[in-house]
Amino acid sequence: MEEDCIFCKIVAGQIPCAKIYEDEKVLSFLDINPISEGHTLVIPKAHAENLWEIAEGDLAAVHRASKKIIQAMKEVLNPEGVACLQLNGRGVNQVVMHYHLHLIPRVKGSDPLPVSSWEIKPGNQEVIGRLAEILAAKLG
Ligand SMILES: [Zn+2]
Repeated sequence: MEEDCIFCKIVAGQIPCAKIYEDEKVLSFLDINPISEGHTLVIPKAHAENLWEIAEGDLAAVHRASKKIIQAMKEVLNPEGVACLQLNGRGVNQVVMHYHLHLIPRVKGSDPLPVSSWEIKPGNQEVIGRLAEILAAKLG
């Protein structure tokens, strides 16, 4: 547990949450500042700041739980779709520095989600190809 981490305090029961799911490794609750109806967070109970730090077992548990949760969302909210969003680092607006996966449903008839609409414009294929080679070599 990290002293100043609001999500660790929620896991410890020191701060209340609108809990919807819990297992040995995972806690899930509704976001108090929802982008849409049903906006949910899924977090590992063990503190890890981001995707670079999270233990593989915790990562798998978070994503396994998210599959159960979106099934329940489908039955309860009947959404047009659900966006999964996970931010790593302050540079991409991660605010709480404890790994969390957002599950953001778009209920029928509501506005398009700001997190899943952007302008599509073709990139520089040469640059894309070069970067792919460099990253693939790192991963090979
Ligand atoms: Zn934490």
